[in-house]
Amino acid sequence: MPHSFRADALGEHRELYSGLIRLHVLHHAVKEPIFGLGMIEELGRHGYKVSPGMFYPLLHSMEEKGLLRSLHRSRPNDRRVYRATPEGRRALVIAKQRVRELFSELFEDVLAARSATKAARRTNVR
Ligand SMILES: [Zn+2]
Repeated sequence: MPHSFRADALGEHRELYSGLIRLHVLHHAVKEPIFGLGMIEELGRHGYKVSPGMFYPLLHSMEEKGLLRSLHRSRPNDRRVYRATPEGRRALVIAKQRVRELFSELFEDVLAARSATKAARRTNVR
């Protein structure tokens, strides 16, 4: 379950997860408009305990890098809503390929065991 790694989520290994959090944010910003608190809750569901003091600067830095843009607010007190820019979408496509590659290396043994099981099943059927 997603909460099993909560203890480490943003404690002493924060720098390990900062890229994962950015990718997660980008993934959602490509799919739909996002806003700070909503995203903090979403990350919480995935086991990342993120404070507003850490998260808002992260959103701003992603905006400065051209990955996100904040949408126009009709009233100054409306919450700030972000979407991925075309550059953000491109960056996510490339990042997903890298995540896939990393994933297959991290889980090499699991994936190998799984396909071995499948092959064994196929042989048993015959
Ligand atoms: Zn999510």
